[in-house]
Amino acid sequence: MSNSVFNFSAGPAMLPKVVMEQAQSELLNWNNTGVSVMEFSHRDPAYVAMAKQAEQNLRDLLNVPDGYEVLFLQGGGRGQFSAVPQNIASKTSTVDYLDSGIWSGYAIREAQKYVGAVNVVAGNQETGQGKAIAPRDQWKLSDNAAYFHYCPNETVDGIALHDIPDVDAPIVADMSSNILAEPLDVSRFGVIYAGAQKNIGPSGFAIAIVKKDLLGNPQPELSSIMDYQLQAKDNSMYNTPNTFAWYLSGLVFKWLKEQGGLAAMGQTNHQKASTLYSYIDGSDFYRNQVNPDYRSIMNIPFQLADERLDERFLAEAKEAGLMGLKGHRFVGGMRASLYNAMPLEGVKVLIDFMDEFARKA
Ligand SMILES: *Cc1c(COP(=O)(O)O)cnc(C)c1O
Repeated sequence: MSNSVFNFSAGPAMLPKVVMEQAQSELLNWNNTGVSVMEFSHRDPAYVAMAKQAEQNLRDLLNVPDGYEVLFLQGGGRGQFSAVPQNIASKTSTVDYLDSGIWSGYAIREAQKYVGAVNVVAGNQETGQGKAIAPRDQWKLSDNAAYFHYCPNETVDGIALHDIPDVDAPIVADMSSNILAEPLDVSRFGVIYAGAQKNIGPSGFAIAIVKKDLLGNPQPELSSIMDYQLQAKDNSMYNTPNTFAWYLSGLVFKWLKEQGGLAAMGQTNHQKASTLYSYIDGSDFYRNQVNPDYRSIMNIPFQLADERLDERFLAEAKEAGLMGLKGHRFVGGMRASLYNAMPLEGVKVLIDFMDEFARKA
């Protein structure tokens, strides 16, 4: 069964098979050195060259403009929930947060520890066509926010904001589950951050892309390893980085370039998502409760007509080689995560399984 498994886990998530095969083939002998990349000094010129190339490939993929630091950090996505306010806001600042789902909520509660006031500009609402994010004209923005934070892709809720918001404050985005999913205009952002384990590489690792002119005035208690400016000065090696995660992420960036970059990924990702949404919408047995304008292309929650069938669905799916479909424990139901590494074929196999299950049920 091991070869034919499709892994729909929300994170840590599946990684491209060819990348995993390359990592496996050179695990004990990296770069013809006779040792593993895990056993290498991060100061060694061979390692530094690999690390720099990984950063360059990420910059190329996202077309990162001049004037931005690209940082490789630790502590995953949540580490950035405190790093952001401590790096770019003061203890008396007001900061604006859009509350579009579970991850936004976590980010808000963490930020409250570090700033004068967290102003929640808006939340979600029910519409005739399902759950949606409050429209921009209903947001209550502050006059002098140090920054505006949002999560463009809510991994648990499957809700996405597809347009970059039009606000005056520097925009900070938690892109943990949608970074590199499609082309992005980085110049619109002050900070983009992402935990790595959805669309990049191993967990515990994080990427931050930070506009340089926001830096230089961190809160005094900011821990050095979370200090964007210090990490930038030291090429993200102020402390020993997660060397293996950096290496593996570098292989993923190279793979993405070989696939044709983010334009190509975006096309495939939209195709994968719309294939699954159309099937769900056309079925009486499955449903998705998000308004079509706000549906995630990465994380697709769906419910069965009768939740008493959930356990059986999951057991039979697993039997059929379809893993990781259980919805988040807060929301129940199912969730299919269709990150970059998931081929269109996996979505087709999932739909065939769903169809067969619905017919039998
Ligand atoms: C997974 C996730 C996180 C948390 O990442 P950790 O690495 O577990 O800290 C934060 N934000 C979003 C949107 C996520 O999907």
